[in-house]
Amino acid sequence: MARELPPTEAAAAADFRGIEAWIFDLDNTLYPAHCDLFAQIDTKMTRYVADLLDVSDDDARIVQKAYYRDHGTTLNGLMQRHGVEPEDFLAFVHDIDLATLEPDAILHAGIARLPGRRVIFTNGCTNHAERVLAKLGLTDLFSEIWDIRATGYRPKPDRSGYDAMQAQLGGRRAAMFEDAARNLVPAHEVGWTTVWLKNGSVWSKQGPEHPVPGEEHIHHTIFDLPQFLHDIRI
Ligand SMILES: [Mg+2]
Repeated sequence: MARELPPTEAAAAADFRGIEAWIFDLDNTLYPAHCDLFAQIDTKMTRYVADLLDVSDDDARIVQKAYYRDHGTTLNGLMQRHGVEPEDFLAFVHDIDLATLEPDAILHAGIARLPGRRVIFTNGCTNHAERVLAKLGLTDLFSEIWDIRATGYRPKPDRSGYDAMQAQLGGRRAAMFEDAARNLVPAHEVGWTTVWLKNGSVWSKQGPEHPVPGEEHIHHTIFDLPQFLHDIRI
C-alpha cells in the first residue's frame, strides 16, 4: 500500500503522472548492490575466457575487461572476436548462487502500484532474470523481460535496443530505472523519464573507462528505489 503523504511532502514528490510503461534494469537495481551477484558472474566470465583461450586467469581477466570496455559486454567481445555461441556463455556465467537475495515487501508494493506495463530490460539472459525475480518475490509484477537475446545481443547502452522497445511501446510514455548511469543516455534520447539509482558501486559510476558523461540525461537521482516508488505521484 502506498502511504499517504502529508501535503507539503506530496507537493515535492516527483511527478510520474501519465507514465504508462515502467522499464527496470535488473541487476543492482531490483536488489541492493551489496548482494554482489556480479562478483560471482564476473568470476565465471573469467573462467569461461580462460578455458576458451587456454590462458591463465590473470590473462583472461585482462581480455575480459578489454572486451567489456570495447564491446559493451564481455559476451559481445567474445562473439565479435571469437564467434562464441551466446547461449553457451550465458548459461555458464549465470549459473550462480542467489542465496544473498531476499524479498522486499516495500519494493513489491512500490512496483505493484505502478499503472500500465512493467518491463525488465537487462543485459543478462531471461533465465537469470526469472531466477532473480522469483527469489525476490517479484515474478508476478512484470509482463515482459527484454534480455540480451531480445536486443539481438547488442547490450545496453547500444541505442538499437531502446529504439526497438520504444517502437513496441507504441507511443506510451515511459520511465526507466537503472543503476548504471551510462545506460540512461539513450533512454533520455528516446524521450523516457530517467531515474538513476546511485548506489555507489563501481558499476554505478562505470569506472574511469566509462565516466558518466555529465548528468544532463538524468531526470531523477535516487538512493532508495522502494521508497522512491512509494513517494512518486502517479
Ligand atoms: Mg544494473
